[in-house]
This record gives sequence, structure tokens and C-alpha cells, in this order.
Amino acid sequence: MIDEKNDSNDISRRGFLELGSAAVAGVAGILAMNDVASAQSSSAEVKTGRTTRISDPGPTNKALDAANRDVSVPPLTDAGGVPTFKYPFSLSNRRVFEGGWSREVTVRELPVSKSIAGVNMRLTAGGVRELHWHTAAEWAIMLYGSARITAIDNEGRSFVRDTEVGDLWYFPTGIPHSIQGLGPDGAEFLLVFDDGDFSEHATVLLSDIVSHTPKEVLLKNFGMSKQSVDQMFNGELFIFQAPIPSTLAEDQKLAAGKLGPSPHDFSFRTSQMAPTKKTKGGEVLIVDSSTFKVSTTIAAAIVTIHPGGMRELHWHQNADEWQYFISGTGRMTVLATGHRARTMNFEAGDVGYVQHTLPHYIENTGNTDLKFIEMFKSNRYQDLSLSEWLAHTPPELVMAHLNIDKAAYDAIPKEKAVILPE
Ligand code: MN
Ligand code: MN
Repeated sequence: MIDEKNDSNDISRRGFLELGSAAVAGVAGILAMNDVASAQSSSAEVKTGRTTRISDPGPTNKALDAANRDVSVPPLTDAGGVPTFKYPFSLSNRRVFEGGWSREVTVRELPVSKSIAGVNMRLTAGGVRELHWHTAAEWAIMLYGSARITAIDNEGRSFVRDTEVGDLWYFPTGIPHSIQGLGPDGAEFLLVFDDGDFSEHATVLLSDIVSHTPKEVLLKNFGMSKQSVDQMFNGELFIFQAPIPSTLAEDQKLAAGKLGPSPHDFSFRTSQMAPTKKTKGGEVLIVDSSTFKVSTTIAAAIVTIHPGGMRELHWHQNADEWQYFISGTGRMTVLATGHRARTMNFEAGDVGYVQHTLPHYIENTGNTDLKFIEMFKSNRYQDLSLSEWLAHTPPELVMAHLNIDKAAYDAIPKEKAVILPE
């Protein structure tokens, strides 16, 4: 442990937090806020066995430290080693094509994320994510622009729809589909798969099928001319540039043919749904198979936390939580078994993860709304809050645990607030 009195070069917690990272190195030596920091923490130090005072005279990545302050200088209540539950899409390999790009966060990037993987994709106007399917189910949210999605249902009937910012879609296992960016500037969206081991490299592609099928078989299969088969594309498309499609009505009509369109809706407009819960602190929209019928393996909560607000202490009984941060800045603490707790910082483009049943909370640390999605591999959204648990347990029992009086017990919210303040 660092000797606080003799280490004149250390960085007080408060001093570190109040200064930008660049300033810290130069002025660390003259920061003399020792009194404040040690008064705050003397008892917590005993409990956690850690010091409030951290010096870091050797090499460090100052920009990353500054963006991850609760990791560099952990809160005193953090303890033990909770494995990393954050991965920024910014560190993912970006595959670039004519027509767009894509990058993924899977169990290979973020080892704790076993049940869900995500892909962030950009398509230009006309850019196509080629016709394909996969063994995982696909849930998606449009983040920018607009795109046309196509699929067929289990009876072979066609589904064609245009999607805008905030819209969702869901394609079950084995259902073939495509995505194409529309004008004026294409689209960017997030794909969520109900398998952490999923990889966008492991999808069944139309281009793959025709490239690895002998021409004679293609002739027999399609009944088209030999000349057409000979000039057919050979290779992998994945994402490619195509002309902007014609009107939605035209595409729907031509794709439906004599079978008619699918009666199933693989898309969902969140803009047409009222918030599930709205408080002074923010709002949440819960979308699972009770409202978005086809989404039978993935449930979602779309959360907005206003500045100063907090997603209350809670846990999920039925599934791990995979998060994607859309805007704002926040921090999440995950409380793990064996006296462990860890806090990590999040901003737009980050993926977060919480193993099922572990308590956690998320604070908005900025001065703009913090918006993120919570994703679960489940047909239904499920959670319990710490407050609703204690409020519905015999008061004397709770008071004996927490060493609080009846007035303090009565102050505990009786219902789940979801986002505080109520
Ligand atoms: Mn797909
Ligand atoms: Mn949660």
C-alpha cells in the first residue's frame, strides 16, 4: 500500500477527477487535497483494503484514462476483480466495402458476452447487405437514415418494408433477408444476435451459394439460359453498391407475386408506442414478444436517462443483459458475488454486459440525455428492483438488516421506479 504521508507525487482522487488528464501529470505534485480525500474514505479503506490515493508515474494512455475515470480511479466501494464488461465498437475491426462497412462485438471481443453479439453496419444510398440468412435470430434498430428490408416468411410469402430511425426489425433463424440503404444518405443500424458466438463472417450468402454450385446444377435449378448462368457473379458480395431501389409499393407488389404479401410483420415502429414507464428522471420503452409478436427470442428496453438521473439498482432473473449506448455519457456499476463490484464508464458506441441476476445501476454522468438499449435473449423482459424487494419484505426484517428506523424504511419506493428520480 502506498504510504500517503510520504508519497508527495500521488494524485488525490478528487484532484484527479476535477482536472483534465493533460493537466494531471504536470500539477500532480502540487495537488494538496489530501485532507478531503482521506477524510472521505478512511472507513471504506479498511473495508476494501485499498487506498484512495493512486499514483501512476509510469507510462499510461492518458486519453483512455480520462475517458474511463472510474476505471483509472475506482470508487471506494468497488472491490475485487469483475471481468471487463465494456467493449467500444471503435476498437472493432471495420470491414469496408463499396456500399458500406460493418464491425462486430462478439464473445471474441468481449469474453463475458456469451448470450448476445452485435454488429454495427453502415450502408450507402443503394448499398446492399446481400441476401442471406444465419443460424442466430437477428434483432435490429435503425440509428441513422433509412433502409429497405426484405424477407420471406416460412410459407414463402414476401415481406418488404422501409425502416426509419428508431424502427426495429426481427428475422427468426433461417429466414432469408436483405437490407438496402435508401436516399439521400443510406443508413446506419445495429444488429443484435441471440448468440454471443455469432459472427457476421458465418452467414449463408446468396453469392456463396451460386459461387460454389456447378454451373450445370444452376442450369437445372433455375432453368435460365446458359449465357445467364455463365455471366452470373462469382465471389463474395457481403456488402455491395447497387442502384437505389424503386418505390416501396412497386417492390412490394413485384415481390409478393401471386402468393400475396406475408401477414407477419417483421418490423416494429417504436415511434408509435407510448413509453412503458415515464418518470422525472427519464423513460423506458419495453419491446418484447408481448408487443412485437415475431420477436420470440429477443427482448429489449430502450432507455433514456435525463441528466442527474439513474437507472435504479435492479437485476434480471431470466437473462444476461447486452447494452449498446446510443448517446450521452454514463457509468454502470455491476455488483458480483464474492464481495466484488466494478464501475465502468460508457459513451456512444460502447457495448456493455451484465450477467443475469447480478445487481447493477446506471448513472447519467453528463449534461445531456443518456440513451441506450438493454437487450435480452428471452421472449419477455423481466427485472426486479432492490426497492420493490425491500418494500415488499416484512419491515422489521429489513430494518434489522440495514440498521434503519421505520421512517427510513417507509421512504423506500414501494414500486419499481425504473428510472430515478420518480
Ligand atoms: Mn442478417
Ligand atoms: Mn438492467
